[in-house]
Amino acid sequence: MAPSTSTSMLAQTPELINKLSTAIASLHTSPTPTDVLPSQNVLSEAHATLKSDLLEQGAGLEDTIRHLTQDLGPALNASSRSATYYGFVTGGSTPAASLADNLVTHYDQNVQVHLPNETLATGIEDRALTLLCSLLDFNPSQWPHRTFTTGATASNILGLACGREYIIAEASAHRTDAEVSVGEHGIVEAMRLAGIDNIQILTTVPHSSLSKAASILGLGRSCVKTIGRADAPHKFDMDQLQKHLAQPGAASIVAISASEVNTGLFATSSLQEMQSIRQLCDMYGAWIHVDGAFGILARLLPSSQQYQAIKDCTAGLELADSITGDGHKLLNVPYDCGFFLSRHRALAERVFANPNAAYLAAGSGGDGIMSPLNIGLENSRRFRALPVYASLVAYGKAGYRDMLERQIALSRGIAKYIHESEDFELLPEVEGEVAEALSSVYIIVLFRAKDEKLNGQLVAKIKASRRIYVSGTSWEGRPACRFAVSNWMVDVGRDLPVIKQVLQDIVRE
Ligand SMILES: *Cc1c(COP(=O)(O)O)cnc(C)c1O
Repeated sequence: MAPSTSTSMLAQTPELINKLSTAIASLHTSPTPTDVLPSQNVLSEAHATLKSDLLEQGAGLEDTIRHLTQDLGPALNASSRSATYYGFVTGGSTPAASLADNLVTHYDQNVQVHLPNETLATGIEDRALTLLCSLLDFNPSQWPHRTFTTGATASNILGLACGREYIIAEASAHRTDAEVSVGEHGIVEAMRLAGIDNIQILTTVPHSSLSKAASILGLGRSCVKTIGRADAPHKFDMDQLQKHLAQPGAASIVAISASEVNTGLFATSSLQEMQSIRQLCDMYGAWIHVDGAFGILARLLPSSQQYQAIKDCTAGLELADSITGDGHKLLNVPYDCGFFLSRHRALAERVFANPNAAYLAAGSGGDGIMSPLNIGLENSRRFRALPVYASLVAYGKAGYRDMLERQIALSRGIAKYIHESEDFELLPEVEGEVAEALSSVYIIVLFRAKDEKLNGQLVAKIKASRRIYVSGTSWEGRPACRFAVSNWMVDVGRDLPVIKQVLQDIVRE
């Protein structure tokens, strides 16, 4: 009699897991790929090996490992594994985070309910979040609603959901003693009870995911209003802000872009500015949400002349009500990780409580840790905290500071090269001192080719080199190109010459 599938699966396991571990280890220790993209040939060959029919008899573990690593692996881009991939804002994965991510699969914890006598998983998550607060110079006790998400988009959804709950409660406070809650009554009824006929999200240069979040939450993409200054669209026009906040019948969320994805510019640049925004928002019962997906990391820079301009842009962000951060960008943990911080503990359950499920009741920890399922989107979910915890433990504040300093040094090196080159132009156009322009470069460098024809093909030509990768975008109606430097492996001495060479070759062609 043939062994049952489950027996044969088990019997094969120990030896094959060893093989798999060896295969993964060799992938992790193989040299940094020099090609950031697979060639068209490799892509089509790999595509041809994809199975189209579900097999009655499975191919078995050994064949499958070979299929994944040898047939398919070469057809995946090296975005996180290459030091010269500068597309989007793509973080790599530190060795500690990569190892821990494999362990997450091995331990396969479901981080939904806080059961401190049964598993330390939620305790480790909470500790990872408090360490993260320390990294970013936030006092964890001021951010009692904190959780891991799938990324900055999900964190923005949480931020707007909490903001929506808060501003409607604020608006209703002077009409009724009853608690008006969107979570409880739904948005239409809650707005009616609160006497609100308009919810608006006031922002400057928002990330596209803010509109997506507004749509998902029933606020609508059209409620996102940009009120930037004419001379500096990334900064708030404070008169406009006040006018909008003061509109009768309106309730507002103010969304601060703490580093905009196209230019790297920040919406605020001093503690005083944050204080003024806070004062206005308090006056009108508005909520402040900060989208700091990658910008928030700037808070860990040392106080020194060369970083002051950037550091000032993150001063006072602790005055916000909620903050979005990404894990899979500058924190350099694998994909599927973001974080969310809010100062309003009681609001968390009003929005996210998973009610009336006796079987999901929490154990009594008495430690103040809330069950993740009552303070975020998912019920069951992956143990996302472990790679963050591992990486923070392994490298500490100095390790992360060093990564960021290398990333900034490379970005400024690229910016300087582009500014001095006859063929390219740094964006936004440098007005005034070059040194000043360079000192406000964070990890994003926006530029274009001066030659119109070359500019139209620039991104495609850079990608075709397959040695470095950049994203295309547009600036003032014309094509533009951007570097986002976000990998932990950055080495200025090694990487800058490669970048210069690729750009020079393209001009010479
Ligand atoms: C990348 C980014 C997002 C979206 O992040 P995901 O991790 O892709 O969900 C949101 N806001 C800003 C400012 C970003 O840079």
